[in-house]
Amino acid sequence: MAILTTILSVSAISGVLALVIILAEHFLNNYGECEININNGQKVLKVEGGSTLLNSLAAQKIFIPSACGGKATCGLCKVIVKSGAGPLLPTEEPYLNAQQRQQGYRMACQVKVKGNLEIEVPDELFNIREFSTTIESITQWTHDIKGLRLKLPPGETITFKAGQYVNFYSKPYAKVKESVFRAYSISSAPSDNQAIELIIRLVPEGLCSTYVHTMLKEGDPVTISGPYGEFRLHGENRNLIMIAGGSGLAPIRSLVLDILEKELDLDMTFFFGAVTKRDLFDLDELYDLQARYPNFHFVPALSKPLPEDNWEGEVGLITDVVGRHIGSGEGKEAYLCGSPGMINACIQVLTKNGVTEDRIYYDKFA
Ligand SMILES: Cc1cc2nc3c(=O)[nH]c(=O)nc-3n(C[C@H](O)[C@H](O)[C@H](O)COP(=O)(O)OP(=O)(O)OC[C@H]3O[C@@H](n4cnc5c(N)ncnc54)[C@H](O)[C@@H]3O)c2cc1C
Repeated sequence: MAILTTILSVSAISGVLALVIILAEHFLNNYGECEININNGQKVLKVEGGSTLLNSLAAQKIFIPSACGGKATCGLCKVIVKSGAGPLLPTEEPYLNAQQRQQGYRMACQVKVKGNLEIEVPDELFNIREFSTTIESITQWTHDIKGLRLKLPPGETITFKAGQYVNFYSKPYAKVKESVFRAYSISSAPSDNQAIELIIRLVPEGLCSTYVHTMLKEGDPVTISGPYGEFRLHGENRNLIMIAGGSGLAPIRSLVLDILEKELDLDMTFFFGAVTKRDLFDLDELYDLQARYPNFHFVPALSKPLPEDNWEGEVGLITDVVGRHIGSGEGKEAYLCGSPGMINACIQVLTKNGVTEDRIYYDKFA
């Protein structure tokens, strides 16, 4: 009897506690309508509280750069919050240096809208738009890399700088119940403004890249937003070194096509690294560009060619190959794209050969 009474009492207390938590959640998290004042009243938004600043702004078609989909791993969604954000969160700390903290920078994906906020964003962000595109074609470039061409609706155009990226929104599929977005660099030239091309590598277990590789078909609708990003041509030096691994080709291809189309007086050497021959792609186009333009030099390299590859080109890690070719880094600037590990290693080789860090530009696909 005593045991039964104890069980009933514990169950009753647990039930009451659960009810209190549900009621507290309902009342405490019900922030009602909040105001987001942007750039001293340039825009004033009324939003329902409770969501992140990043999502609240996106719902009102103001797109803050973010490559990771709000997971606090890319550090790109920094905005100045002048009031209303509460204390800095531990998840924001790694991405904000002392100066940025003093200036009031916060990570928009971490700040929750719980009351009125005053924020500052650069004017150019108002030009970022959402586009409803259609998949015009899909190319299986390698066993784990696909190329997509996304057509904009008739009459619409996109203005971007070579090197920039878009956010791609996947749809719920299989066990993934919600849409996610990820950054993908535009691989086509800015002159081709009624469509964009992307090059997407399948990341094992990756939510968005698995959607692209296993679900997406020609004719499917896809929402993107953009353009975003600071990776673009500087061209202060005549000689450009470009280095890419795998899908890192995307923004480099856009830069190369843009420079050649505009007939800029720049000399480019592009090092394209892969493991074996089956990981290299788009070679016909790149060799063709080299044959047609004396200012474009193409150096593909394999780190572990197989005997059946019959590879007669450069062999070694891309860093070794670059080290063998680069000569003096004086008067050169570098554009790198690929995994963080590859980029860090390339920066070391470049700086050792005299390319100063302020002349090395990169986008880490992380
Ligand atoms: C500015 C920018 C531009 C980019 N452009 C391109 C591009 O043109 N083409 C392209 O293919 N990718 C590009 N990326 C990477 C892309 O945004 C995604 O991170 C990538 O596709 C993985 O997303 P996912 O949803 O498939 O994986 P997620 O679900 O995000 O991650 C699944 C798991 O894989 C790990 N992971 C995430 N990314 C990688 C990675 N790249 N390699 C290995 N493991 C990873 C995660 O830590 C996690 O454990 C870019 C990234 C940035 C920041």
